[in-house]
Amino acid sequence: MAGISIRKNDFVVVKAGKEKGKKGKVLKVLRDKDKVVVEKVNFIKRHQRPTSAQRQGGIIEREGPVHLSNVMLWCEKCGKGVRVRRQRLDDGKVVRLCAGCGESFD
Ligand SMILES: [Zn+2]
Repeated sequence: MAGISIRKNDFVVVKAGKEKGKKGKVLKVLRDKDKVVVEKVNFIKRHQRPTSAQRQGGIIEREGPVHLSNVMLWCEKCGKGVRVRRQRLDDGKVVRLCAGCGESFD
């Protein structure tokens, strides 16, 4: 369950698959599917039906979901995708820290 700590607006890097090495911002977390949608990663073509608002229809490209196991949080300080550890603060709040350098992501 390593990937579950990824949230919307986090910056992640793709660790596997054809998009390996790409970095981007998390636009959406699909918790029930264990997937995330990352900005400018995994573009897929979709056929769009003509509608009254947009008569033409045709093919549009948009980001497709990537499985959580294929992405890691990007740590600017470490310069790579990193594991996350959690730390409970004195006030009870749990923050996510880089397992490499200890930088906080929250
Ligand atoms: Zn780090």
